[in-house]
Amino acid sequence: MLDTASLNKLLNQPCKIVITTHHKPDGDAMGSSLGLYNYLVQQGHHTQVIAPSDYPEFLTWMPGNSEVMVYTEQKEKSAQLIADAEVIFCLDFNNLSRINEMGELVRQSSAVKVMIDHHLEPEDFDDYRYWDINACAAAQLVYNFIAEELQRPNLINADVATCLYTGIMTDSASFRLPKTTAAVHRIVAHLIEAGAVNWHIHELVYSNSSENRLRFLGHCLANKLDVLPEYNTAIISVTREEMNRYDTITGDTEGIVNYALAITGIRLAAFIVEQSDLVKLSLRSKGEFPANEICKKYFKGGGHRNAAGGQSEATLEQTIEKFKQILPEYKTLLIQ
Ligand code: 5GP
Ligand code: MN
Repeated sequence: MLDTASLNKLLNQPCKIVITTHHKPDGDAMGSSLGLYNYLVQQGHHTQVIAPSDYPEFLTWMPGNSEVMVYTEQKEKSAQLIADAEVIFCLDFNNLSRINEMGELVRQSSAVKVMIDHHLEPEDFDDYRYWDINACAAAQLVYNFIAEELQRPNLINADVATCLYTGIMTDSASFRLPKTTAAVHRIVAHLIEAGAVNWHIHELVYSNSSENRLRFLGHCLANKLDVLPEYNTAIISVTREEMNRYDTITGDTEGIVNYALAITGIRLAAFIVEQSDLVKLSLRSKGEFPANEICKKYFKGGGHRNAAGGQSEATLEQTIEKFKQILPEYKTLLIQ
């Protein structure tokens, strides 16, 4: 493992840097990556953000977005950049399986690998680790990394601040999840002072839906919500056909699971969606209920206690059935 002084020394001269984040990037993944990108370019580094896959339209307005490379669209160029990199930053994930095919390329690269992350159980692939599961977002850790580890708070300009604000806002569900501490609010206050226009960022992320997306949400709530009061659990499931019927695009399903969790008394919510090659599950829970345990144990996934995801190779129907059959095991935790 590298110490901070050695990393700082390495970053004191311009170098070739790749920043990457998890598959199907969310607001924190893109916000932390572009926040760090906008910091590093000020220091003259050759910096490239590579997203393993595409990401929602409502995240494409952030400063630096036009320079992002999507691995699945530019495989050869991405592979070359990863192989040539001197430093690779891995943000908002801690297991190389989370970046699919890119994982092996990163593993094989001779670059110094820096992990900045807030998920449980990190894999041992990094050379420098800035990791804290109590952080509400990877963007919070990027802020601390720049301001405290590298001691460059003055380089948090409006572009950096805008991206980091977006990461913290989205991962803390608009500053309301339990990890949104007073320290987080102090960071956010500094980001606003540095130029993040908070009301505008909220509008760009949350009031920027296509008509189709809202109608699809309406369909999910009116017709697809299955409430199981005996387990304080609610499930929303959607088929491929329904996704097509509403012309959904990447990101349109984001956040729908939270509506199911908003029902009084519900402690566990699942959004189960049929994708082209597999079935994807998104779980959310309240309080101590370990949504990530279910994902890890039964659906080849993981995540945080209150927000986790996984997948299944069975059919949608079979996956819903499997999920329901798991609930009795957790009954005491669900009904307390
Ligand atoms: P989402 O439900 O928004 O896809 O994911 C919620 C959380 O679970 C995120 O923090 C994400 O990193 C994690 N997560 C989602 N899918 C997976 C997965 O397949 N494997 C692991 N390890 N974590 C996941
Ligand atoms: Mn995150």
